[in-house]
Amino acid sequence: MSNYQIETKCVQGGYTPGNGEPRQIPIIQSTTFRYETSEDMGKLFDLEASGYFYSRLQNPTCDRVAAKICELEGGSAAMLTSSGQAANFYAVFNIANCGDHVVSSSTIYGGTFNLFAVTMKKMGIEFTFVSPDCSEEELAAAFRPNTKAVFGETIANPALTVLDIEKFAKAAHAHGVPLIIDNTFATPVNCRPFEWGTDIVTHSTTKYMDGHGAAVGGCIVDSGKFDWMAHSEKFPGLCTPDDSYHGIVYAEKFGKEGAFIYKATAQLMRDFGSTPAPQSAFLLNLGLESLHVRMERHCANALAVARFLEAHEKITWVTYAGLESSPYYAIAQKYMPKGTCGVVSFGVKGGRKAAEKFMKHLKLAAIETHVADARTCCLHPASATHRQMNDEELIAAGVSGDLVRLSCGLENADDLIADLAQALAQV
Ligand SMILES: *Cc1c(COP(=O)(O)O)cnc(C)c1O
Repeated sequence: MSNYQIETKCVQGGYTPGNGEPRQIPIIQSTTFRYETSEDMGKLFDLEASGYFYSRLQNPTCDRVAAKICELEGGSAAMLTSSGQAANFYAVFNIANCGDHVVSSSTIYGGTFNLFAVTMKKMGIEFTFVSPDCSEEELAAAFRPNTKAVFGETIANPALTVLDIEKFAKAAHAHGVPLIIDNTFATPVNCRPFEWGTDIVTHSTTKYMDGHGAAVGGCIVDSGKFDWMAHSEKFPGLCTPDDSYHGIVYAEKFGKEGAFIYKATAQLMRDFGSTPAPQSAFLLNLGLESLHVRMERHCANALAVARFLEAHEKITWVTYAGLESSPYYAIAQKYMPKGTCGVVSFGVKGGRKAAEKFMKHLKLAAIETHVADARTCCLHPASATHRQMNDEELIAAGVSGDLVRLSCGLENADDLIADLAQALAQV
């Protein structure tokens, strides 16, 4: 599939049926797999042979869908997880242990911020949050001798800042650590972070990839380019024997291309079990088949809506990187020339109260803690997804009290604009 364009990979990647086999990816609804001899199975447990034995670790349906996302991103290996949260947790915890440190962009998804700043902190992993717009000097100053990774979002949810991926990749590599990018909002249709030096990509597939609000899920993709062995003192988990797996050294046995995903599967999926259901992977694949068609419409609708809001007297500000007036316009053109995403954020004149009133009057846009759905939806992050943050953290995350996040769906753009106009008229 690697010679085909992204549109063809969306439709046909990951699975090529043999003669007489199902055209659609089969749902292998089985927890376990049968073997003729104990020796056969023993080889799987020793990671000497590849094959399936228990669906907590690997399932053929999930693997085929992961293989499609791997092709879309241009990676070397990938795994599905049961949620985007699990994907980001595994991606970081696979290389950072108690006593380690990670540099992260401050404008990240509220759930990820909580995972890093609260839960992983309890596990002994420290995070330093830097502005995505920081200078190279400020970024360099955030590193410590025990830093193991750098993390950011291509387009941040909900702040909609656009990350200068090359700047972050350069800093990460200068310090001998990989860059992990959450590419949920851009999707590989609009941005492929590996082409700009990113080492690991994560996704909440719950968003555009599924696209229909049907199944929660996540994915981790490895570029296969980071040389773990060249920095073996920093990554003992990949570069020294794993006693829980008969002394395997992942970076030796599976090389740059396979080590990261093999370790995350063999250790983290085995021990934490954030496994997606085969049925959910099947639904995700239905979404992936039309991802390229949908992204184009999401972006066109969002741009039309952003232009309408920008010209409206009751709107104080609009953030959308596709607008020429956006401070992120130039950088978005560089990394995402085809379009950014369908999410627009803005402030309603009159602040928090006015925003709440406006949202109550919307008829097409439903109030949901969700984005990137075929149906338009909206949210007031300060009272929902980001309510655990204090005022200072809200500002650092790029979320003001009056911020309304609107996720433009696939409806007719004129209908969406008419809905916004009537709701604004009642504020
Ligand atoms: C939603 C989201 C997540 C978390 O994903 P879940 O599938 O809800 O667990 C992580 N990162 C970003 C950018 C998101 O939008």
